[in-house]
This record gives sequence, structure tokens and C-alpha cells, in this order.
Amino acid sequence: MTHQLNDFDEDQIVFRDALERIVRETSPLAKVQKLDNEKGFDVALYRALAEFGATGLGVSEEEGGAGLTSVEQVITLEVLGRLATSMAVFFVIQFMTTRLLSHYGSDAQKKKWLEPLAKGEIKASFCLTEAGGGTDILSSMRTKATRTDDGWLISGSKMWISGASTSDLLIVLARTAPNHSRGVTMFLVPRATPGVSATELRTMAINGYDTNEVGFDDVRVPADAVLGTVDNGFMQVLSSLNHERLNAAAVAIGIGQGAFEAAVEYARERKAFGKPIGQFQALQQRLVEIGVNLQAASLLTFNAARRDALGEAIDIASSMAKFSASKAALAATDVGMEVMGGAGFDMDLPMQRYFRDARLYVFAPLTNDMILNVLGERWLELPRSF
Ligand SMILES: Cc1cc2nc3c(=O)[nH]c(=O)nc-3n(C[C@H](O)[C@H](O)[C@H](O)COP(=O)(O)OP(=O)(O)OC[C@H]3O[C@@H](n4cnc5c(N)ncnc54)[C@H](O)[C@@H]3O)c2cc1C
Repeated sequence: MTHQLNDFDEDQIVFRDALERIVRETSPLAKVQKLDNEKGFDVALYRALAEFGATGLGVSEEEGGAGLTSVEQVITLEVLGRLATSMAVFFVIQFMTTRLLSHYGSDAQKKKWLEPLAKGEIKASFCLTEAGGGTDILSSMRTKATRTDDGWLISGSKMWISGASTSDLLIVLARTAPNHSRGVTMFLVPRATPGVSATELRTMAINGYDTNEVGFDDVRVPADAVLGTVDNGFMQVLSSLNHERLNAAAVAIGIGQGAFEAAVEYARERKAFGKPIGQFQALQQRLVEIGVNLQAASLLTFNAARRDALGEAIDIASSMAKFSASKAALAATDVGMEVMGGAGFDMDLPMQRYFRDARLYVFAPLTNDMILNVLGERWLELPRSF
């Protein structure tokens, strides 16, 4: 079962093993489950990971980060998805916001926000989705920013925003011109700005990381709060969305792998009719099938990460990875629940959590239906379907 097809180099293996040790020592699975049941963020694990340098992965050392590439980010997310999924989701947002700041931030913005973010001294959220719909966000976006004498006035609201009630910084996309795709601007909004509110939503999974509705009630920000270029925010975000898709794939594989490993272990130990249940062909074949699908998705994901690290376009590769990883994770958690019978329902064991958490990356950050639309158009070069 430990047989992995991904051929990491020696440094990557050392990195993965060190990270895994920190997670297991700081937050064993029982603690992760307890926090999940209590809906608590794992502050100790966040601190330990920041100290290890994980918060600064993918950010250059000159910018205050730990360097390294998408490959190490993906390794991190896979390990966290397997052992502490809510923290993995936190890191997807962390890597998204640091990437946006690193690519589009001015020197002053990097100093003020990127450096402390990469060091794990502050947290940030990414505010794109609105209540009117995430898939067709350009049509549904109602949050707008209008110019004032010395800056901008933002009003509107965002939906399903990870971490917003505990973040220090919000990266907000708001409409600044009527043009469909070239009329959106990115803003850096300190969470403490008057008029900003975050209301935590009750969700069924990813319980160790808050999900919020965020309000902007005539929020004033200075002119230098614009991240990147006015009216070009959506286009700037697009390239990072491919990267977010890749990172979502890595978390999904981690979740699936966690469920797979727990199910195989259970199938070895649990007995029926005088044999371990793993000896029954029906279960054995289902376990092998989910394992193979996870390996295939993992290969796609690491291939996309390597391409990203080389600076290649990954719109197709990251879409394939996200689709395949989220499907593999769903199947793995389904089989995991079946193999464990009643024990799958036990809220002190991780299987039910994997089963719930695996749902997220079927529709986020982009739904699988839309991923298939994108692949139909870009990969198969068929006419756009939407
Ligand atoms: C726990 C959690 C955390 C999140 N964190 C964040 C965050 O930090 N920041 C952020 O901005 N967003 C976040 N989101 C939002 C997430 O990205 C959206 O939920 C996602 O983009 C889908 O949007 P929607 O929920 O509005 O679904 P909709 O867009 O309403 O889609 C509904 C259904 O319609 C289908 N559909 C729509 N158009 C088509 C089409 N053309 N072809 C086929 N099918 C179609 C979709 O596939 C889907 O099945 C989070 C969501 C959750 C639940």
C-alpha cells in the first residue's frame, strides 16, 4: 500500500516526511477529529506549520517566503488533506492569496501584506463568490467599487468565504466598470476596516475552518488598495484560479488517500465468517480500484505541479487533475464508508469526516460540470458549451 508511483527526488521526500512528522506530532488524528466536532481551528498546527515555513511556500525568500515551488505546495496539501483536511483547505487559500500578492503586489503592498502572510503572522481570505452564483460569477457579481476623491467606496456582499471571520486581510473582487470580464478590480481590504462584516455560515464539512458571508457596507479604502491594475482584476485572477484548481486536486487526493488507508487497515483487522473482511473478493476489488484511481489522479496532479513549476500553462492539466482527483476522493470515501459499516458513522473516527470533506472539491473552486465544459472547449477544441 505504501507503493507510490510518483517519483519524488530525495529533497522532496525529506520535505514530505518532515512535514508529516510535524502534523502527526502536533495534531494526531484523534485531536483533528475532536476539533472538527467542536468546529475549532487548529491554532497549534498552524503555528507549527508556519515555523516549518509552510505558510511561505512558493513565495521567494526576497519577498519573505520559504521559496520552493508548486510541487512542494502540492506535497504539503496532499499530506494535510490526508491528516488534517481543514488545515489543507486553509493552505489552499494561503497559497492563493500569497500568489496573488507576489504576482501583482507593489513593493509597498508586498512589504505590508505578503511578508507577514508568508511568515504566518497574519491570515488572508479570497473573496470572489457571491450569493447569486459562483460559476457564472461575472454575471452575478453585484459587489461594486466606485471612485472617491482619495480612493474607492466598496459595497456589496460575498458568499462562502473561507476564513473571513478570522483573517486580517481580504482580497476582494468588485465591479468597477460595466465591461463583462474587463470591468473587475482586486482590492486589498483590511478586515478591521469600518463597514466590513463577516457572519459565519453553518456548513456540513471542513469544520475546522470557518466559512462566511462577508458584507461591505460603504467601505472606504485608499487608492493604493488596488491590487494589480484597475478593471483587470478578473483576468489577473484567472491564472491563479488554475493554480488553485491544482491545489484543490492535491487536497482531494489527500482526503481520498486518508479514507483509503483507513479502509484497508480496517479490512485487515475486522473479521467476519472467521476471516478478515479484506479477504472477501468484493471488498478487496473495491479497495484496489479506489487505490488505482487515487494513484492515477495523483500522477496527473504532480505532473501539473511540475509543469507549473517550469512556468508552463496548466489550464488543461490542472482541470484534468481537479476532475480526476475529486472523483477519486468521492469514490474512495464511499467505499471507505461501506467497508467500515457502522463504524463509518462514528464521529470519533475519521471516515465520516473524509466522506463529508470530500464533497467540497467536487464543486469548488470550480464545479466539475464547468471543469468538463472548460476541457471540452480548450482540450477537445469543441465549440463552447455555455
Ligand atoms: C466550504 C466552502 C468554502 C468556500 N470558500 C470560498 C472562498 O474562500 N472564496 C470564494 O470566493 N468562494 C468560496 N467558495 C465558493 C465556491 O467556490 C462556489 O461554491 C463554487 O464556485 C460554486 O458556485 P455556487 O455554489 O454558486 O454554485 P452555482 O454556480 O450556483 O452552480 C450550481 C450548479 O449549476 C451547475 N452549472 C452552472 N453553470 C453550468 C454550466 N454552464 N454547465 C453545466 N453546469 C452548470 C454547476 O455545475 C452546479 O452543479 C466556498 C464554498 C464552500 C462551500
